Amino acid sequence: MSATTDPNLVVGGCAVGGMVIFLFWRLIVWVRDAPVTPDPWDAAVAQQLADPETKETCPHCSTPQEPGTWFCEHCGCAVGPYNNLMPYLNVFSEGEVLRNGVSGRFRNRPLILAGFILISISSYLVFAPVYLFCLWGHWGRPASGTESAE
Ligand SMILES: [Zn+2]
Repeated sequence: MSATTDPNLVVGGCAVGGMVIFLFWRLIVWVRDAPVTPDPWDAAVAQQLADPETKETCPHCSTPQEPGTWFCEHCGCAVGPYNNLMPYLNVFSEGEVLRNGVSGRFRNRPLILAGFILISISSYLVFAPVYLFCLWGHWGRPASGTESAE
């Protein structure tokens, strides 16, 4: 008896397909019914954000940025619109991310730790053990270089 004509597999496949469709429908309902959170700023800030004359600011330290700037002069955070797509600038953006791992400017979460490990191993295989040693030393410490300290 082949696998395609086994009635138990057909019924099982229909049951799994029905469960997947039901879970997908529940996901859609859950997203549709999620509460809408209001903007954390007032109407004046919303109007200022919509104004094209408003200068862009660094998402890390809120320093105003000149147009065409790729990295913040104050904190070194990537602020350019296409930094991560440009092969040359991507190296510096990755460096900023990896520096944040050893300087403590990140939230201590297991997924973030996994990201640091995977990026360091995939990008810098030879130096990854040194980086992972430094990351191990800084993991679990309170953030020393947070936004408020700069
Ligand atoms: Zn900055």
